[in-house]
Amino acid sequence: MGFLSKLFGKDNDIAYSTWHAGSGEDVCKKCKDLDGTCWTPEADFAPPPMKDCTRAGGCNARALVVKMDEAWGPGDAEFIKKKGGVATSKQMDRFHSG
Ligand SMILES: [Zn+2]
Repeated sequence: MGFLSKLFGKDNDIAYSTWHAGSGEDVCKKCKDLDGTCWTPEADFAPPPMKDCTRAGGCNARALVVKMDEAWGPGDAEFIKKKGGVATSKQMDRFHSG
């Protein structure tokens, strides 16, 4: 059972999660680089910043949960699954731009 499973529980309403890094000096490079990365609950993926964050005390970055009934949710989740359960922000951008 992964970190996020413990954090959010197995919730069927969850479409996917996305890593959101804050801006400015409160975010280290490792967290910033992964800003926008998305993953499905099935992927059992914990964003590396949670493990590799280089800022003492952790960054102002967090995982946001997108529910199935929110805009983009279901379509995005299908795309992320096709990518193996984890998609980078660049892949998501490409998907959204058609
Ligand atoms: Zn960090």
